[in-house]
Amino acid sequence: MDAFQYRGNSLLVEDLPLSSVAERFGTPTYVYSRRAIVDAFAEFRRAAGTRDVLVCYALKANSNLAVIDLLAREGAGFDIVSGGELKRVLAAGGDPSRVVFSGVGKQETEMRMALEAGVRCFNVESESELLRLDRVAGALGRRAPVSLRVNPDVDAGTHPYISTGLRENKFGIAHDAALAAYRTAARLPNVEVIGIDCHIGSQITSIDPFMAALDKLLELVDTLHAEGIVLRHIDLGGGLGIRYADEEPPSREALFRAIFERIDRHPRGASFGLVFEFGRSIVGNAGVLLTRVEYLKSNAERRFAIVDAAMNDLMRPALYDAWHGVLPVEARDASPAQVYDIVGPVCESGDWLARGRKLAIAEGDLLAIASAGAYGMAMASNYNTRARAAEVIVDGSDAHLVRERESVESLFALERRLPR
Ligand SMILES: *Cc1c(COP(=O)(O)O)cnc(C)c1O
Repeated sequence: MDAFQYRGNSLLVEDLPLSSVAERFGTPTYVYSRRAIVDAFAEFRRAAGTRDVLVCYALKANSNLAVIDLLAREGAGFDIVSGGELKRVLAAGGDPSRVVFSGVGKQETEMRMALEAGVRCFNVESESELLRLDRVAGALGRRAPVSLRVNPDVDAGTHPYISTGLRENKFGIAHDAALAAYRTAARLPNVEVIGIDCHIGSQITSIDPFMAALDKLLELVDTLHAEGIVLRHIDLGGGLGIRYADEEPPSREALFRAIFERIDRHPRGASFGLVFEFGRSIVGNAGVLLTRVEYLKSNAERRFAIVDAAMNDLMRPALYDAWHGVLPVEARDASPAQVYDIVGPVCESGDWLARGRKLAIAEGDLLAIASAGAYGMAMASNYNTRARAAEVIVDGSDAHLVRERESVESLFALERRLPR
């Protein structure tokens, strides 16, 4: 959260007081720091040095066109999980030859779109998908570049909903079935086997699970090589964690250093390119959700601060029991602090953003819900017919509106009443 700092009692994003963002654009509003996004990506790029490494940005963390555009200009590749996300990359000026296409349920139309755009690689998650891709590519007279997503059965040590590399998860091809799937792939005329990949989960705060996954992949790479199936890249997915509260994830540099050391010890290590698919660690701490306190209220048990943002704007607390910092935009040194649950107006008891926070606040105050740049707006809904928040990117002391606040009329514009 380096780009969000107090100057005196006022919370700034880069050089701009968040209060002026609220004045100009209203609340709730997602506010991102351009510098924080660029710096996070640049740190990966620096850590990669001159190696053959493609750092993709996993679009699903925050798919605003301005974010994609910014990262495309910095040289990012993109990890997509739908045809819709491919359209976003193209609309934002991203280079399709730096796109990897992940996801367990790719439809034929999505495959066609990706083949025609010329994506770098399909990360294939089942034999059925492999056969479908071969057929679709054949009909277009193309060869589809593929990597098989292997489920290495390693525990990422993270929340069950964001852990993806365990045997019981729906993702990938089981490690012990991967060899057979590669043999199938190798004999299909319209696919070209180029890599192997995995993605074991999200918000991973230690290097060990990445290394365990890499070891499993390298083992397979060797077995495949012995059979004459030669791979050009290893894609280790994303999942690097960020600090929400007191987590201490490894630095981007430390993670890469450990991975490179392991690759360099492999006899054919120099022949593999590496691909990564980071989402949260690029945008997570680059954004806040700016919201205003509507009411303070208490009952026998609790004090509540009812704010104008809700679970439809930021779903992570309701969905994963996630912890986000809560920062007063104008600190009140002199006022006494009380312990509050920060809740929204949605008609669900699960509609909370933070619980048990000691804050000195009054009705009308602005709060910043911290670390909301990833899986915030991207997961927002219109539940309770709530228009989704505006999005703003701040660059120095300039604020750019990158998504207008939705109008309520637009929410039911596609609906029709029954005929009389
Ligand atoms: C979600 C996802 C990512 C990004 O995960 P982060 O934890 O945001 O880095 C990467 N690859 C795939 C296949 C994903 O589904």
